[in-house]
Amino acid sequence: MFTQANFPGAKNGNPSGFAMAIDDTVPMRGAHGPDGQRPVRLLLINPRFPESFWSFRWAIDKVLVGKRAVNPPLGLATLAALCPPDWEVTIVDENIEALPVGQRADIVGVCGMGVQHARQVELLSFYRRQGAFVVAGGSFTSLCPERYEGLADTVVAGEAEHIWPAFCRDYMSGAPQPLYRETGVVELSDSPTPRFELLKLERYVSASLQFSRGCPYRCEFCDIIVMFGRRPRTKTPEQIGVELAAARAGRKKHRVFFVDDNLIGHKPRAKALLAFLMDYQHRHGYAFQFGTEVSINVAEDRELLALLRDANFTWLFIGIESPDAASLKEAGKSQNLRGDMLTAVRTIYSHGIDLLAGFIVGFDNDTTDTFERQYRFIMASGIQIAMVGLLTALPRTPLYERLQTERRLLPNAPEGDNTRVGTNFVPQQMSYDAMVTGYKELWQRLTCDASICERILAKTRYLRRPIYISGDSLSERLGMLARFVLHGLLPHGPKRWFHFSRSLLRSPPGTWALVVNDWVCALSLQHFAMRHLCAVTSNERSKAQATLAFIRRQCAAGLRRRTLEVSLRLGKTGTQLIITIRGAVDKRFFTRATQRIEKLLECSATTLSLHIESLAASERQHLLRSLRRLGRYGDRITVTMSTSVRALLPIDWSAFRRDLDEA
Ligand code: SF4
Repeated sequence: MFTQANFPGAKNGNPSGFAMAIDDTVPMRGAHGPDGQRPVRLLLINPRFPESFWSFRWAIDKVLVGKRAVNPPLGLATLAALCPPDWEVTIVDENIEALPVGQRADIVGVCGMGVQHARQVELLSFYRRQGAFVVAGGSFTSLCPERYEGLADTVVAGEAEHIWPAFCRDYMSGAPQPLYRETGVVELSDSPTPRFELLKLERYVSASLQFSRGCPYRCEFCDIIVMFGRRPRTKTPEQIGVELAAARAGRKKHRVFFVDDNLIGHKPRAKALLAFLMDYQHRHGYAFQFGTEVSINVAEDRELLALLRDANFTWLFIGIESPDAASLKEAGKSQNLRGDMLTAVRTIYSHGIDLLAGFIVGFDNDTTDTFERQYRFIMASGIQIAMVGLLTALPRTPLYERLQTERRLLPNAPEGDNTRVGTNFVPQQMSYDAMVTGYKELWQRLTCDASICERILAKTRYLRRPIYISGDSLSERLGMLARFVLHGLLPHGPKRWFHFSRSLLRSPPGTWALVVNDWVCALSLQHFAMRHLCAVTSNERSKAQATLAFIRRQCAAGLRRRTLEVSLRLGKTGTQLIITIRGAVDKRFFTRATQRIEKLLECSATTLSLHIESLAASERQHLLRSLRRLGRYGDRITVTMSTSVRALLPIDWSAFRRDLDEA
């Protein structure tokens, strides 16, 4: 149900738009499986997400050992279930694993939300150049299939339940069409149980399920109702029971995120589902901890809240968007105008359910004063995961069409990414730069330690008895607590201790697990804001220059021999450290210099480009150790290697960016 700020990575429940590609050693166009001799091999890829607030990188890297991403690509698992039973389907999520090299596939499908568009296009082009039959799909493809013309052999636009089997039939008969577009209504009783066994669920924080599609409201900026319509369609509780059993797959406890945009869009059916889930949980020892998205009118219905609590929904996400009635009215968010929103938030807390929320700045009614009003509301509400985003006009939404008529859309601005620091139209009552500056300052204020502490206290005053039945064992919880203390408290001095202790000791003991959880999430947001939004450009260059000077001092011998080269590229879009290794460097490169680079990556948005042309055998293990250390920031590290080095260095490619043409 939330909208603009939405869960990149989490909401790909719609099985439309994915893309497949073949890799370099393999069957070229036309060399597919329908030769009667072997099954068709299909590779489905979920492209890498750029890091955003939704990545929760700090928590995943430092506290949640063994996890690589928040949510799995549910849409691809559903798509796999729609394939002919004899097809061999592989799902690769670039966010948790390396793209396969040398694996044979007949078709490569690449999915994508708007935020993944750039990488999706890269992957489509790459596999196309390799001669593969590529298919594009996903939510952004569904919104604007015309933008994929020439990029994919087939485009799948819209819900896949009917059009994907049609593509499979046509492919088998040798006549696949360039475009498959769903124009009718898909009933979710036609949606198969996703093939969860193809996902590596243990590497994600949550599993994902979908109960409904569509939302009865009409928010002007929302692409959900453009894609799924305003009549909520649902699965039956029995279907969900089968999916829960499949998702559980032998594990005792599980976190599950219902990716619905508004789970209570059809209240009677939502209540029937919750009653079913209550009973299911009772029969299975409360094996699941749930979370989902709903509209704020959930707070008007005590029966609904009680059902959510009893089914063990520990958190809800709500699109609050703005505390300003005029902005909500302008956006058509009528459901948020029906009562006092702070009261609604506290009513939800009083049922022991935590709240996450989306906020938007950039409505025509908004001015630079709006940031202060957003700050005050968020602080008073106690909402820790307050995802503030700048309004973005997504293609085909009523907002997009209005701004197009008003000639306010910015040419060449990215249109599908609502997680970046910017927008794609000219604001009405403030300059673009003032909006971006106000946005960065708001995040800076929200993520400082004092604000984190104050919000926890504002929450635990009302949320006195959280459900918080953790899916983790006692030893897992103690391990997470120890890592939080080690990485989140100890290195940060007395101020951090003061705010943490205050938030803990002034909250009821029954909420202490929630307090620690809030700190872990808040520090993830703080970490991202610090590196990407706050004073980055002014400080980043000087930090990178200091790191460069340090490496040059420590590794002077290697630099003299020219077996090591280090330089900086200072561009408008950021700072890049470039390192080339051409033989034996210096042990200090693998110790002190690596440590310093790690620190630079930790406290800035600098990227690293590492080229390894040759390597001394005696330094192989040192380099592997260094790469393991730096892998935590691997989404900002591009590694290239000569063929001879690649054969000798078994690195975990899933951790790093990889030059596709080199792969
Ligand atoms: S239309 Fe529904 S899903 Fe879209 S933003 Fe509004 S409430 Fe959320």
